[in-house]
Amino acid sequence: MLQKKGVYVIVGLILFFAVIHLAFPPEQHDRRTTITVMLGGIAFLLMTSSIILSTRLEVFEDWFAGLDRMYQVHRVAGVFAAITALVHFFGVPKELPEGVDPIANALFPSVPLGMLGLIFLVIGLFIALNRKIRYSRWRPTHKVMGLVYFLIIGHFMTAPGIFFERFSASGIILILAAAVGVVALVYSVFGMNKRTALPFEIEAVNALERATEVVLKPIDKMLDFKPGQFAFVEIEGKGWNEPHPFTISSAPGEDKLRFTMKVLGDWTRKVREELQPGGKVQVRGPYGRFDTMKAGKKQIWLAGGIGLTPFLSKVRAMEEGDDRQIHLVYAAREEQDAIFLDELKDHAARLGNVTLVPLFSDEGNFARVDMMKQKLPDPLNSYDYFMCGPSPMVTGITADLKKEGVSRDKIHTEAFEFR
Ligand SMILES: Cc1cc2nc3c(=O)[nH]c(=O)nc-3n(C[C@H](O)[C@H](O)[C@H](O)COP(=O)(O)OP(=O)(O)OC[C@H]3O[C@@H](n4cnc5c(N)ncnc54)[C@H](O)[C@@H]3O)c2cc1C
Repeated sequence: MLQKKGVYVIVGLILFFAVIHLAFPPEQHDRRTTITVMLGGIAFLLMTSSIILSTRLEVFEDWFAGLDRMYQVHRVAGVFAAITALVHFFGVPKELPEGVDPIANALFPSVPLGMLGLIFLVIGLFIALNRKIRYSRWRPTHKVMGLVYFLIIGHFMTAPGIFFERFSASGIILILAAAVGVVALVYSVFGMNKRTALPFEIEAVNALERATEVVLKPIDKMLDFKPGQFAFVEIEGKGWNEPHPFTISSAPGEDKLRFTMKVLGDWTRKVREELQPGGKVQVRGPYGRFDTMKAGKKQIWLAGGIGLTPFLSKVRAMEEGDDRQIHLVYAAREEQDAIFLDELKDHAARLGNVTLVPLFSDEGNFARVDMMKQKLPDPLNSYDYFMCGPSPMVTGITADLKKEGVSRDKIHTEAFEFR
């Protein structure tokens, strides 16, 4: 579930700014200027929120229910910032009020800075949303968006008073936001947003069906994490490039850290084909709030393919006597693809409170809400749903559950992507 606290804070900040701006407009502003400048301010506050979210600070993980959600809100805030900035640009009066000297006004660099900022913002957004660009190429271009932020600050700080009054009540809010935004930007662009790395040695690289299990032995100390959390894995050596996020599939009490990586692109293929025991890995984390312990006693865990990993850690960590009633639906293409199925069966037999439901699409069996409605002993809205898997599966099931009257608060999802 998208924790609403963080979203309320962003919306609250924007409303506060809008109310202050409308309540205390600079005297010389006409209605059109007041409204369109307010939209420009809102666009800037959305950009600031988006930048603050990229700091990955732990406190925000609690407000937004995990880092994956923070990045979703980061993206949505960026899109709304661009839309609002465009409306601001087209709406703001282009003609100067009577009595204003056009030559003196032309000396302000505000207009070119704003135009450049807007152009880069829109181009940057198209790049940011383009999934065809490889992540390793996409990441540095996305960082350039920081430049846009400085252009926009330059735009409003150099704007003539007939358009923007810096020391009006709402102007001061924007200046304060800019100060916080710049600190946040420097913090994340220069990599200070990463949690401390712990060194590990690769103990084993196990080939599974279309996936690889990487087993790591701590060199210094073990990572402290909760079942279902994830970490950034950075392999030392030439050609491994940037860190990649993976859910920790081992249980917290184990003396090794295990990751199960589906072969998807260049990096995960290289892991399968080239990674050797003995190499060094830095692990940063933990991140994520995919926590089944805070929900009700009746739970449905829905894993699609590699989306099993958070549940694998949870099942491995679970002890006998757990009083929850859990149905673990494991959807895979075919039985061969259902990695760790035998181990899951053993855990289900050991624990007694976990009912394992494997579903294979090649046999025509899919995870479906109408099937759950028929087979589950209690009404659908008496369960909490935890889902991790391909986004069409997760969005489809979420929509069907909502149609069946299941409250959004009972639907918890983990996204395996940040952009
Ligand atoms: C919170 C989280 C948990 C995850 N847990 C698992 C897991 O347990 N098992 C598993 O197999 N996969 C997991 N993933 C997905 C995994 O990170 C990607 O599949 C992997 O990074 C792909 O890398 P690639 O270069 O091989 O593939 P590519 O084809 O290059 O990338 C595929 C997609 O993965 C994402 N991606 C690629 N590189 C990065 C990166 N450095 N940082 C962030 N995202 C990136 C991008 O969305 C990209 O579009 C998780 C992702 C997230 C966000």
